[in-house]
Amino acid sequence: MSRARKGPRVAAPRPEGAARTCIGCRGVFERDTIARLVRGPAGEVGLDRHLRAPGRGAHLCWSRACAEHAVKRKALSRAFQGPPTVTTSPDVETLCGWMVAALEARIADALALGRRSGGTVSGAEVVASALEAGRVGLLVLAGDVADATEAKLRGRCEAAGVPVEVYSTRDGLGANQGKAPRAAVAVVLSPLAARLRADFERLRRVSVAA
Ligand SMILES: [Zn+2]
Repeated sequence: MSRARKGPRVAAPRPEGAARTCIGCRGVFERDTIARLVRGPAGEVGLDRHLRAPGRGAHLCWSRACAEHAVKRKALSRAFQGPPTVTTSPDVETLCGWMVAALEARIADALALGRRSGGTVSGAEVVASALEAGRVGLLVLAGDVADATEAKLRGRCEAAGVPVEVYSTRDGLGANQGKAPRAAVAVVLSPLAARLRADFERLRRVSVAA
């Protein structure tokens, strides 16, 4: 029997068991694209950054708008089936603070891992030649670089069609890469660049009011 293909398809088929429903917007998403909140043994709710903490979970898009919906609908205390308390019903700022912290930690981990696996390069000369060779999928720029350096790097990235994200400081980027302070880190491994671009986009959705 062939299924009639009428009308627009809402979503691509998902592997069974991978779908999770956001308690804010009620949308259904793949497990690893959505944040997981978990109620720990003592009843306290927190964000499960590694998606493997035991306990009852609830899912939320990486989005301030969804955090606002969830709080308005009292969706957390419903999901965790308990009377709302301070620990089971975090407010929007708390939820967004957890998500920002988790995303920032994930970005730091991914960049550090990238350095060990050859997925990132840094240093002015190396970054310049990687850009020239078309090897860069994302440029991570320290938040405290000099204006002239920033303008130069942004200009090169624009010419090469490479997205730029601002993150951490020169000292922070250098320490993350196990090096002296760095103005920028170039991500040269495309799956890693795609993952990081997605997390930076999530960070924006969590940080900025919708
Ligand atoms: Zn949502």
